[in-house]
Amino acid sequence: MNFTSVNPYTQKKIKAYPALSASALDRKLKQADRAFIDWSALSLENRLTYFRKIAAYLRREKQPLGELITAEMGKTLKEAIAEVEKCAVGCDYYIENAPKFLADLTIKTEAQRSFVTYEPLGTVLAVMPWNFPFWQVFRFAVPSLLAGNVGVLKHAANVSGCSLAMEEIFRACDVPEGVFQSLLIESKTVDTVLRDPRVKAVTLTGSEKAGASVASIAGNQIKKSVLELGGSDALIVLADADLEKAARVAVQSRMQNAGQSCIAAKRFIVEKSVKKEFTDRVLQHIQAIQQGDPRLESTTMGPVARLDLADAIERQCAETVRQGARMLHGGQRDGCNVQPILLDNVKPGMTAFDEETFGPLAVIVEAKDERDAIKLANQSNYGLGSALWTRDLDRADRLARQIQAGSVFVNSLMRSDPRVPFGGVKLSGFGRELSEVGMKEFLNIKTVWME
Ligand code: NAP
Repeated sequence: MNFTSVNPYTQKKIKAYPALSASALDRKLKQADRAFIDWSALSLENRLTYFRKIAAYLRREKQPLGELITAEMGKTLKEAIAEVEKCAVGCDYYIENAPKFLADLTIKTEAQRSFVTYEPLGTVLAVMPWNFPFWQVFRFAVPSLLAGNVGVLKHAANVSGCSLAMEEIFRACDVPEGVFQSLLIESKTVDTVLRDPRVKAVTLTGSEKAGASVASIAGNQIKKSVLELGGSDALIVLADADLEKAARVAVQSRMQNAGQSCIAAKRFIVEKSVKKEFTDRVLQHIQAIQQGDPRLESTTMGPVARLDLADAIERQCAETVRQGARMLHGGQRDGCNVQPILLDNVKPGMTAFDEETFGPLAVIVEAKDERDAIKLANQSNYGLGSALWTRDLDRADRLARQIQAGSVFVNSLMRSDPRVPFGGVKLSGFGRELSEVGMKEFLNIKTVWME
C-alpha cells in the first residue's frame, strides 16, 4: 500500500510513500511509549528550549515548507507560507504562556494545603486533515507536547510529504526520538492504534463521519477524545452593518484556502433591507478573485485539493440551483480549479444551506429581521464559528449569546487565534483547542489535598 501525493493544480503525481508495516507501526508506538518517560520528566524550561528551536526552524524554512504545502494540497504559496508562520506564532504563544498555564493552582480549603497539578497522559494520537496540513497539527502538538505528552500523527492520505516534513522538523531540532512521530497508515488502521494500550487519548480534526467513528472507539476504550469537525457557519449581516467591510471580509472568509476551511462563513444571512447592496458588493469582490497557478504571486485562489472535492461542490451547487437558488457567479470548472460560486435566494431545505460546503461556494440567505437571522443561523446541525456584523455593540453582545456556536466574531474575520479557545458544538464536535483551555484537554487535572 502506498500513499500518493498528487499536485491538484497540475494533476501530476509528486511522490508515492509506502505505508508503515504492522511491525514498523509497533516499533513507533514502542518508541513513543519509551520517549514519554524521559520527556515528561524533563523540566518545562527544558522542553521550552526545543520549541524555541522549532519556531526558529519554521521561520527559517517557511519558503520550502510552504512550497511543499502548495504542491500537495493546492493553496496559494502566500497562504502556505502564512500558515507556516502561524505555526511559529503558535509556538511563541505557548513558550510565553506555558509556565503560567501549567503552574500548580492553589485552592483554599480547610486542608493545610490543597492544590491542582497538571500531568501529561502519555501518547496522544492526532488524526488530522489536509486543509491546513501544518497548522492543524501544530495547534495540537505545541501545547500537548510542551505539557509533557508525546504525539503520533495520522495525517490525511494526500499530504504524506507534509506529515514526514513535520517529523523531520522535530528531528532537526533535536527533540528526543519518539516525542513526535508521523504514522503513514490508512484510516482503517486508526482503530488498531487507538485500541493499543500505549495510546492514551485521541484528537481528530475532520469530517463528522471520521469523528463519530474515532470517538466511538475512544468511548469504548474509555480514552479521552477531542473532535474538531465540520461547520456551516453563519455570517449575519444586519441593516446597520458596515456593508463594504462586511462584504470584503465575508468573501475573504469564504474563499480563502479555496473555500476549504472548517470555519469559513458558509451561509451569508442578510437582513432584507440591505440584501441587494450587500450582494452586489460581495459579487464585486468575488469577481476580483484571480484563479490560477497557486505558486504565482498574482494568484489569489488556487485549486481545491482533490477531484472528489471539486465533484462534491459541483453536485451541491447543481442541486441547490435545481431547488430554486439563483446563480450569480460561477459554473466553470477545470479539474480541481473550481470557479468561485455565488448563489442567491438560498433557503433552509436546500443542499447548500443544509450540508457543509467545503469549497468556493458562497450563499446568500435573506432574513426578515434580526430575530429571523438568528433563527436561520441556528437552523443547522453544525455550530463551529460564526460572524455577526452590526455597528451596535450592545445589540451584538445580546445576539452573540443567542448563536449556537463555539465562537462568534463581531465585525471581524472568524479565525483561529492561539489566545482564544477554538472548537464547536452540535455536529461540529466537542472539546477545545488553543489557549489555556486547549492546553489542558490532554492533562490529568490532579487534586492534591493535605491535612
Ligand atoms: P476526513 O475525511 O474526515 O479526514 C480527516 C482525517 O481523518 C484524515 O486523516 C483521514 O484519513 C482520517 N479519517 C477519515 N475517515 C476516518 C475513519 N473512519 N477513522 C479514522 N480516521 C479517519 O475529512 P476531510 O474531508 O479530509 O477534511 C475536511 C473536513 O474536516 C471538513 O468537514 C472540515 O470542516 C473538517 N475540519 C474541521 C476543522 C475544525 O477545526 N473543526 C478544521 C479543518 C477541517 P484519510 O485521509 O486517510 O482518509
